[in-house]
Amino acid sequence: MIRIVCVVGARPNFIKMAPLVRHIKEEWNETFEATLVHTGQHYDERLSQVFFEELGLPQPDVNLGVGSGTAARQIAEIMQRFEEVLLWKKPDRVLVVGDVNSTLATALAAEKAGIPVAHVEAGLRSFDRTMPEETNRVLTDRLSDLLFATEESAVQNLLKEGFEKERIFLAGNVMIDALVGHAHEAERSTILNRMNLAPQQYALMTLHRPANVDTREGMEKILALLFDLEKRIRVLFPIHPRTQTRMEAFGLASAFGALRNVALCEPVGYLDFIRLMRDAKMVLTDSGGIQEETTALGIPCLTLRENTERPVTLTEGTNLLIGTDPRRVLAAAVDILEGRGKKGRVPTLWDGQAARRIVRILQDRSVAREPNPKEAPLSTTFPRS
Ligand code: UDP
Repeated sequence: MIRIVCVVGARPNFIKMAPLVRHIKEEWNETFEATLVHTGQHYDERLSQVFFEELGLPQPDVNLGVGSGTAARQIAEIMQRFEEVLLWKKPDRVLVVGDVNSTLATALAAEKAGIPVAHVEAGLRSFDRTMPEETNRVLTDRLSDLLFATEESAVQNLLKEGFEKERIFLAGNVMIDALVGHAHEAERSTILNRMNLAPQQYALMTLHRPANVDTREGMEKILALLFDLEKRIRVLFPIHPRTQTRMEAFGLASAFGALRNVALCEPVGYLDFIRLMRDAKMVLTDSGGIQEETTALGIPCLTLRENTERPVTLTEGTNLLIGTDPRRVLAAAVDILEGRGKKGRVPTLWDGQAARRIVRILQDRSVAREPNPKEAPLSTTFPRS
């Protein structure tokens, strides 16, 4: 038995880990003993529990319950609590996904405990160190012995950084596995009726990156954009809790609320969100994952950022990196409305089979060790009741 600890912490992690855990449990149950650890980084019901239910992700075996805090505090807390899990479970491997604080913190704790780490979604680089995720990406890759990439650019980044090619695998995109796997169920979503939207008659917007929402100036730009955009098309804007907090702190909540053709709502569940993307005229976002999902669905996407760590969505997909100048974004939106939206194709290996490829390699490259009680005494302090 290969004992593997799978780590999730934040919304995009749940989506990426679900196909992996499902595949391990359905096809490799005799080979792997999997433990699912939730760090508790996202604890909000709308960003966490709903995804477990909709994605069929089993309830976590352990919840570290770290909650929010500064990055350093959160990373330190996760490391300490996760180390106890490692002592308790003595796994042969730790599997991490994505680029959030939980990814880095658990990879570092595992490496310090001498446990090999596999990173799914390795090698993505925005080359922008002001993004908190960029540091998480670079460091997590350094700590990992198996690196699973979603696109060729990521493979090239890793090679340039000196990783041996034997450790890098272009495996496809587990986020697209989840999308493909749930597309059918998303058809049954009633979100369009509930939000009073007609297919192709609305734009979908999500924003939560610090560069866009952490300054008053950034939020005012979004407001200015929506002011013009709503004259052309109805907009649905599910608001991330972080964005909501900032909007209120800057005293802009009532100005957003006064927009007449913009529907503001709480974050929606995964199946509803797939349905919303699929039927949208366009998507405006600063999310990483949504750039990929819109490319897979063939829906035009305007990314309100200056860079992207997912360049294949630009070179092959429907994504346009448009920045945050309201006039520029509006001009690109008008192009889409007038039928000049970007067409694209689905990148190689974004075929719904990435988890299958990854688990096979994990099975091949992991060594089941005999538990050694001297090396790792059983902790009695975890899990806490
Ligand atoms: N998502 C969702 N509901 C929403 C907004 C997003 O289910 O209201 C999903 C979306 O389909 C994608 C993921 O959340 O799979 C993206 O998460 P997020 O934008 O928080 O993270 P990022 O991809 O930027 O790391």
